[in-house]
Amino acid sequence: MADVQTTNQTILVVGGGMSGVTAALEAAEAGYDVVLVEKNPYLGGRVAQLYEYFPKLCPPNCGLEINFRRMKVNPRIRFFTMAEVGGISGQEGDYDVSIKLSPRYVNEKCTCCGKCAEVCETEIDNPFNYGMDKIKAAYLPHDFAFPTRYVLDPSIVGTEEGEKCRDACVYDAIELDMQPSEFDIKAGAIVWACGWEPYDASKIEYYGFGEYKNVITNVMMERLASKSGPTEGKILRPSDGKEPKNVAFIQCAGSRDENHLPYCSGICCLASMKQASYIRDLYPDAEVTIFFIDIRALDRLEDFYTKVQEDEKVTFIKSKIANITEDEETGDLVLEGENTRTGEQILMNFDMVILATGMVPNQIAIEPPPDVSYDEYGFLTNDPEKRGIYGAGCSRRPTDVASSVQDATAAALKAIQSIARR
Ligand SMILES: Cc1cc2nc3c(=O)[nH]c(=O)nc-3n(C[C@H](O)[C@H](O)[C@H](O)COP(=O)(O)OP(=O)(O)OC[C@H]3O[C@@H](n4cnc5c(N)ncnc54)[C@H](O)[C@@H]3O)c2cc1C
Ligand code: SF4
Ligand code: SF4
Repeated sequence: MADVQTTNQTILVVGGGMSGVTAALEAAEAGYDVVLVEKNPYLGGRVAQLYEYFPKLCPPNCGLEINFRRMKVNPRIRFFTMAEVGGISGQEGDYDVSIKLSPRYVNEKCTCCGKCAEVCETEIDNPFNYGMDKIKAAYLPHDFAFPTRYVLDPSIVGTEEGEKCRDACVYDAIELDMQPSEFDIKAGAIVWACGWEPYDASKIEYYGFGEYKNVITNVMMERLASKSGPTEGKILRPSDGKEPKNVAFIQCAGSRDENHLPYCSGICCLASMKQASYIRDLYPDAEVTIFFIDIRALDRLEDFYTKVQEDEKVTFIKSKIANITEDEETGDLVLEGENTRTGEQILMNFDMVILATGMVPNQIAIEPPPDVSYDEYGFLTNDPEKRGIYGAGCSRRPTDVASSVQDATAAALKAIQSIARR
């Protein structure tokens, strides 16, 4: 069991994406002890899964690695991966929190030599690539995972395969008898930075996601474009591995729709423009059509929108696509709808479609639930009447990395004030 010394001066940060890591660093660098818990086996959240991120279109490891370096030299931050909060009791200035750890089956002696993966034959869907490829059941979650340590999938624990992996490890890093564990901490304030999940596109039945292989989502597109993705950065049609020549993006896929997500996620218009440029950079002959209701570009990213509009192979059509069908022989997709500017009917063929789905907040799913407020869509509101637990980043609203970082800094300050008020 972890022995973690904490007091009611400690700040707990839940969620180790860009927001949680920022809140943890800001609080620790201001002189406060921080415990950071992350449910994945690595830190970095959804940003780690992007190919490039705007505004500068840098690879995610630029921004993340600077933060990981700051964490490594700061003894005030203790972080736990494969960890979740089991329960919260108390009030501002004095919380008791239980933390649940899932077994990784690999200890800190792991050197990432990869021998366990070499002997492992079992493969599992790769969660980092949204299940678009397989990985060995003994795996490093992704190329620049932090902490840099392998994980064993529970499906091989208790099997001969698990034992083969353990025997292949000359560093004694594999512990097949690791058990789930729990420990308690004290905290004076909590920052909730659990971010977002992509909206489940299979709920938008008329777009055929899950049924038609060449209909994918925007988060999958980030992995397809990435060198460490399932196609090593070559954007290829999932059905037959062909280079796409004619690609459609459907904006507001399930968003601004009372039957799905009633709100605008604010980011998916720019994400599609960014992804259109991934395709155009890779395939100079490819054509891209973006079907939109309205284009929402965050203020400072308007320039990016202008640049994409200047590309003559990118067409914007104002339309809410009503339906997609598939040509079973070719895997091509037929989009139907109406051009809402001209009133003309749309019946167009594409070889690949990307659904620009929105962001769903990860709420505090703990029993009994702590006393916090949510807005009508389930985002935390940081109600001034309810102090002590503060949402940060995309737990509070769908937004980009730069705004998440600012928001997380503000949440760290609020957490410090909660402790100072005691
Ligand atoms: C298709 C697409 C492309 C995008 N591209 C860009 C871009 O180019 N530039 C840009 O600025 N923004 C982009 N964004 C937005 C960007 O992804 C978000 O701004 C960013 O992820 C917000 O970080 P976060 O830490 O708030 O949330 P997240 O990245 O979601 O991190 C939350 C973390 O909390 C963890 N967690 C969840 N629940 C729990 C729990 N119960 N206990 C412990 N841990 C938990 C998660 O595992 C995760 O690590 C894009 C979004 C989409 C949809
Ligand atoms: S667990 Fe052992 S064998 Fe596997 S990568 Fe780590 S050190 Fe190598
Ligand atoms: S950002 Fe664009 S695609 Fe996303 S919900 Fe808003 S208008 Fe629709």
